[in-house]
Amino acid sequence: MRPFAYTRATSPAEAIDAATPEASVKYLAGGTNLVDLMREGIERPERVVDVMRLSLAAIEELVGGGLRIGATARNSHVAHDRRVRERYPMLARAILNGASPQLRNMATVGGNLVQRTRCPYFYDLAAACNKREPGAGCDALDGYNRTHAILGTSANCIAVHPSDMCVALAALDAVVHVEGAGGARRAIPIVDFHRLPGQTPHIETALESGELITAIDLPPAPAGRSTYLKVRDRASFAFALVSVGALLGVEEGRIASARVALGGVAHKPWRARAAEDLLIGAPADEATFRRAAERALEGARPRRHNAFKVELAKRLIFRTLADLVAGAGDGA
Ligand code: SF4
Repeated sequence: MRPFAYTRATSPAEAIDAATPEASVKYLAGGTNLVDLMREGIERPERVVDVMRLSLAAIEELVGGGLRIGATARNSHVAHDRRVRERYPMLARAILNGASPQLRNMATVGGNLVQRTRCPYFYDLAAACNKREPGAGCDALDGYNRTHAILGTSANCIAVHPSDMCVALAALDAVVHVEGAGGARRAIPIVDFHRLPGQTPHIETALESGELITAIDLPPAPAGRSTYLKVRDRASFAFALVSVGALLGVEEGRIASARVALGGVAHKPWRARAAEDLLIGAPADEATFRRAAERALEGARPRRHNAFKVELAKRLIFRTLADLVAGAGDGA
């Protein structure tokens, strides 16, 4: 690992000050992804700013019925919080589907938002990777791309975002709060926080240099049942091949509210707006769910080894929605 300077910040302002010199700087929270990347020589910061001493771990009520989750709240703490389990069960399920209990006990929600892809070529310093080295090329395009993206890809990168939690946050219309130099604050809708690869796959989020994630707001969820289903190669400690976070509210046989977000299929958590538009107002039956699943995958562009994800995603969307109407999932 390359030597680096270490700063332990005691306030957001101190952390942001330490993160805005010319040197490359990384914030360190749980360290479950960053430390691995530093050991592998993929991340090579000159300074690491430890933010775990900041008072940003609380989960607080918001006026109007939402919740504010501090950026350094541990994933396990969030998943087991009574208010999260009762009001945002999809989020609790998504977090509990991610990683192992040991990792969830260390990882934070802020760190979860900025974790890097698990594309194997990104981790292989001998491989060409535009994300690791802009302009180098992408060995995944014609390589073994079974786990890669099918939606929103570019000719420069087909990596997927690895987070389960962020899929639920996308379905719940979460808002990410950040603070930058001089105390400047921004609120970024989660659907705009992560970027598609385009020409610049190395730029993964809307964060500006030195900006620190301070909290994530959850607005009140629409009435209805919700759940999170994940298909992966083994039962635990594996990333999603495809996952679905969905919420469905049904009144007198028709769909009154619908949220559908997909994981494992794109460079960012993928909100399936076209499928939601089709669902709202339609009969809550299997024919509708099949049409919504087809709609969600319109425009999919699989590569040689991952075409199975298109059908898998359709089937998982159908099953998730059908299960919700049948009474599975959580909610009224
Ligand atoms: Fe790198 Fe993206 Fe290509 Fe993977 S898919 S090798 S992360 S550019």
